[in-house]
Amino acid sequence: MTADVKKETLGFQTEAKQLLHLMIHSLYSNKEIFLRELISNSSDAIDKLRFASLADESLLEGQADYEIRVEVDKKKNTITLSDNGIGMTRDEVIENLGTIAKSGTASFLESLTGDARKDSQLIGQFGVGFYSGFIVAERVEVHTRKAGEPADTGVLWESHGEAEFSIEAKPKETRGTSITLYLKKDCKEFADDWRVRSVIKKYSDHISVPVLMAKPPAPEGDDKKKSAKEAEVEFEAVNEATALWTRPRTEVSDDEYKAFYKHVSHDFEDPLTWSHNKVEGKLEYTSLLYIPARAPFDLWNRDMSRGLKLYVQRTFIMDDAEQFLPMYLRFVKGVVDSNDLSLNVSREILQQDPAVENMRSALTKRVLDMLGKMAKAKKGDDYASFWKQFGSVLKEGPAEDMANKDKIAKLLRFSTTHTDAEVQDQSLEDYVSRMQEKQDKIYYVVAENFNTARKSPHLEVFRKKGIEVLLLSDRVDDWLMNHLQEFDGKQFQDVARGALDLASDSEDDKAAQEALAKESEALVERLSKVLDAKVSEVRATARLTDSVACLVVGEHDIGAQMRRILESAGQPVPESRPILEINPAHPLAHLLDTEQDEDRFSNLAHIILDQATLTEGGHLEDPADYVSRMNALLVELSKA
Ligand code: ADP
Repeated sequence: MTADVKKETLGFQTEAKQLLHLMIHSLYSNKEIFLRELISNSSDAIDKLRFASLADESLLEGQADYEIRVEVDKKKNTITLSDNGIGMTRDEVIENLGTIAKSGTASFLESLTGDARKDSQLIGQFGVGFYSGFIVAERVEVHTRKAGEPADTGVLWESHGEAEFSIEAKPKETRGTSITLYLKKDCKEFADDWRVRSVIKKYSDHISVPVLMAKPPAPEGDDKKKSAKEAEVEFEAVNEATALWTRPRTEVSDDEYKAFYKHVSHDFEDPLTWSHNKVEGKLEYTSLLYIPARAPFDLWNRDMSRGLKLYVQRTFIMDDAEQFLPMYLRFVKGVVDSNDLSLNVSREILQQDPAVENMRSALTKRVLDMLGKMAKAKKGDDYASFWKQFGSVLKEGPAEDMANKDKIAKLLRFSTTHTDAEVQDQSLEDYVSRMQEKQDKIYYVVAENFNTARKSPHLEVFRKKGIEVLLLSDRVDDWLMNHLQEFDGKQFQDVARGALDLASDSEDDKAAQEALAKESEALVERLSKVLDAKVSEVRATARLTDSVACLVVGEHDIGAQMRRILESAGQPVPESRPILEINPAHPLAHLLDTEQDEDRFSNLAHIILDQATLTEGGHLEDPADYVSRMNALLVELSKA
């Protein structure tokens, strides 16, 4: 087809341009990483071919020795990386190198702040891959040909990393991809053999294919002979070239583990921690699991890529094998290499294979143990930063994974009235260790945000009695508590639900409460009549010290936070009216009690009810009604 032969110039996608510019400028202080990124891509391309050739051996074109070659040319100031991996067709080149169509690009760009320092950190998370070549190169050429296709399907892609790239047909005898970087003037160091070797050692030692470079020039004497005959250049491996996870733990350095993490995760930052294990016995597999330091920006996107890189007997099978870990551990990155699965396993088979189910539960325990260890580690700083990034994901755990409920519960962290600080750093074990002698429940309050929780009127009696309450304000919290139910044999109790029953109350307390209820019978009766349509019940309470009233949810009714979430999602919410609890000792209650005018009584009653809704962060059904009642009172007040 002649159209394919002609050189064509195409524009990068707008987002690609923007991102490219940002990457090049924000990563300039760490130029050398381009080598890691390009070698990583080559290694992935070889993994893909190795896998595809299981089904179709002809793809190998009779050549099954995989390698990546790195050649430098000081005179031309270039560096070339060639692999004999899967290669790309013309369409794939345009698709892969002409757009930055990675999932989440849009949300990534949205999260940019315009502050160069913060943005370059974000870039770090995003992973720059192929485009990192433009950090050091003023021009990049990619010559590639798909494995198994004829030589004349080869393509040459070229770009200066600005607005456009060109693409033309150029035959290629060998399969795979060859990338040549025409280095910028101030990046000459990457045309230097010694410098490039040391960078490859540093970042790519763990890559399982050999990375070859030309053997250094032979000593003086031989030189003449060679140049005369243009002796063939000999290549040697620069890296270790064994899959890192197959090596014994004791022989892998922390730096190697970190470098490998960056390869599997496309993350720029070091991981927080990792766990490397070889399992032998009924099932045989090796796993290397990492906890990232930072949440990806698409953590809440249901379609985010998640899961482990799956190998079977060291052969790469697939990325993002999500069957090996539950959803609430979707932030974990790493590799699992199984000896039991078949090489032609598919995602569908993985879903049904009992061996996978067993591995999944073992790997889940492994991750929970790793987190437990991190939480116990000396200062717990790493765990604190883990919790900040991933805590609300882990909170999905008890609902998804009943079997590990207790293990997960120990890993949870909360704000509580003990510290009254917004940072979630108190464990349930901490809470239990501070429980009062007769206290038999773990109390919590749920609100839309931390401040509303902290100032909830429901806490008044607890603060007075020095009983600790968990302050919950994450969206998942109500959901979490519904599934947790108990910890260490103690029930969880929402302080805004049901009747207040403090086991620590003395006989005297109880007698006083009964007396209170008796005294306020008349007031409660009058209020019930006026507010009948809006509340299910009015009752006197001992839980308030400063506030006049609060709303309580019936024992089996849906909680206020859950109600708001369902409503905002347009879901049907079961009909239920709250209970209004009133503090008879409050001056406003006295005022009500002595009010003779029924209209004024009703006004005041409605205002008190609406205020109780407002303090718990709720929305008024009829805000205008509240304002006009309130204003009527103000006018009266100013007349008096
Ligand atoms: P990522 O590797 O994170 O997907 P990149 O920008 O590095 O993003 O690469 C984009 C795509 O280009 C890759 O997913 C792959 O399909 C293709 N690609 C890059 N380098 C190579 C290569 N050496 N051989 C074959 N395909 C490649």
